[in-house]
Amino acid sequence: MNFYSLNKIAPNVSFKDAVIRGLAPDKGLYFPESIKPLSKGFFSHIEYFTNEEIAYEVIKQFVGDEIPEKELKKIISKTLTFDFPIVDIEKNVSTLELFHGPTMAFKDVGARFMARCFGYFNKEDKSSKITVLVATSGDTGGAVASGFLGVKGVDVVILYPSGKVSDVQEKQLTTLGKNIKALEVNGTFDDCQAMVKKAFLDKDLISKKNLTSANSINVARWLPQMFYFFIAYKQLKNKRRKVVFSVPSGNFGNICAGVMAQQLGLPVKQFIASTNSNDIVPNYLETGIYTPKPSIQTISNAMDVGDPSNFIRIQEIYKNDDELLKKNVSSYSFTDEETKKAMKKIKKKSGYIADPHGAVGYLGLKKYLKKHKAQGIFLETAHPVKFLDVVEPVLNETIAFPPQILNVINKKKKSIQISKYDELKDFLLKS
Ligand SMILES: *Cc1c(COP(=O)(O)O)cnc(C)c1O
Repeated sequence: MNFYSLNKIAPNVSFKDAVIRGLAPDKGLYFPESIKPLSKGFFSHIEYFTNEEIAYEVIKQFVGDEIPEKELKKIISKTLTFDFPIVDIEKNVSTLELFHGPTMAFKDVGARFMARCFGYFNKEDKSSKITVLVATSGDTGGAVASGFLGVKGVDVVILYPSGKVSDVQEKQLTTLGKNIKALEVNGTFDDCQAMVKKAFLDKDLISKKNLTSANSINVARWLPQMFYFFIAYKQLKNKRRKVVFSVPSGNFGNICAGVMAQQLGLPVKQFIASTNSNDIVPNYLETGIYTPKPSIQTISNAMDVGDPSNFIRIQEIYKNDDELLKKNVSSYSFTDEETKKAMKKIKKKSGYIADPHGAVGYLGLKKYLKKHKAQGIFLETAHPVKFLDVVEPVLNETIAFPPQILNVINKKKKSIQISKYDELKDFLLKS
């Protein structure tokens, strides 16, 4: 399968090149040349497929023959080593738990798949060492670090905003060692992302270093996120009732994968992009004007994004037809106060402990269900233990550490503090 750049200037590339480059040379995001829906028979027999078989059917058209079937199946089986249960919360409201992986956030799926694709392509071509450069607002860093740990021929450099990620998140990205390096930036997530972008544009640097990104713009992170929308559908007891997904959204990669799943034929009535106070997309859908803003810090920090990169892919899927987009995607924004109230309400009504991101998803779903009939699923994108500093005081509850977290929490943090782009460049050139 070939991929084109959404800026339409750079040449089309293979899956492999799209994965290795991340971003096209004209700074556009890559997008598949064609999208073929899966057969009716696949959907009517989906209960008979294992999660791995579903994933293979979903991803194979995008990979084409660039990874042999046997290898691709191996990559999938090493990606999907955990479950994606649906838990009922209240009438018409369930949650799809995406946090049973090694770093306890949905990003494990994309990061593990991507890391193994890199591993495969690198085995084929040993000549060049790759440096994966990634900015994180919290969960990406841990998932990428865990996914790439020990992958040969790949170094990973993670930039994170100092003091703006949770303790658990910080431990997950600063304690692994080996081929994983963490840079602690004096600034916000946007500052981290700006430094990463600058590095990719730095001709001097890229002539000396083989840089690539692992942010959600990479097709090997974006596309496998479709898997769990299908796995959720497989679990529905009543497949005739219309289903809607509410996706807590920041950079809009996760929801964009859901929209792709719908293009492959997954019968989804509506997507709800639920955001915190970083309300760029809800504003756009209301006013028709897209205004990026500096990100605002909230209690759902993995969604503190002021200019969501992947939204442009959703626009491309709906052929830049805003009316068609709005028929399929609704978007609502919620404040921290509303989010805390929702966490309390969910616990009181059902005993369920939602993390702040899941709670934003719950709020979006409830708002939609006020006016529409459907069975609603909100995505629980991270385990509450990743946001202890919010969850424990709000719910007056102690959260036990799952084994994945016990593994890192007492390890010693190792990071290098930086403030300016030149320090990043120096670091990359020296390493
Ligand atoms: C990354 C993240 C999100 C936002 O996902 P996007 O794909 O960037 O929209 C939501 N919740 C959690 C817990 C995350 O880590």
